[in-house]
Amino acid sequence: MNLRALSKIASNCIQCPLHESRTNVVFGEGRIDADIMLIGEAPGKNEDETGKPFVGMSGKLLSEIISEAGLKRSDIYITSIVKCRPENNRNPRKLEYSKCINLYLSNQIELINPDVIGLLGNSAVYALIGKKNIKQIHGETYELNGRKYMALFHPAAALYSRALLPQLKKDMIKLSNAI
Ligand code: SF4
Repeated sequence: MNLRALSKIASNCIQCPLHESRTNVVFGEGRIDADIMLIGEAPGKNEDETGKPFVGMSGKLLSEIISEAGLKRSDIYITSIVKCRPENNRNPRKLEYSKCINLYLSNQIELINPDVIGLLGNSAVYALIGKKNIKQIHGETYELNGRKYMALFHPAAALYSRALLPQLKKDMIKLSNAI
């Protein structure tokens, strides 16, 4: 199974209730052999409409932060813990993200085999490494099942609270140095 085949399967997925609220499945995009993978929470309105991850306001900010850290967005693989937009942008539920991770994200991680995985926001951090309170653990590196993870603030949080932005930028630089 390669990423293209997995993406094709996901495009018709009805394995959890989130298929009812989506327009497009947002599988992910970027280099298939990326050294860095970024994983967010879920598609929002713009992502649902375009089928691409992080294309709205927070996506624009994320692109700027990536660039400021000396990285190219196109060299990174970007996706989310669920591939379908939850209605009214609610948080994905455990049943939903567990199913989606098992079906798709875990395979994406294996196929891409990145050096380090940046988890954007509390939902991704909790779903992948079981930790809470990103304010305390952001910028820390965790090894789990032979993979290296780092927690970062979600760019949407930095848009909402600009005080988080300098720290998000610092953590992205840390992430770039972790490969
Ligand atoms: S969120 Fe994931 S598991 Fe649920 S329907 Fe979409 S692709 Fe399938």
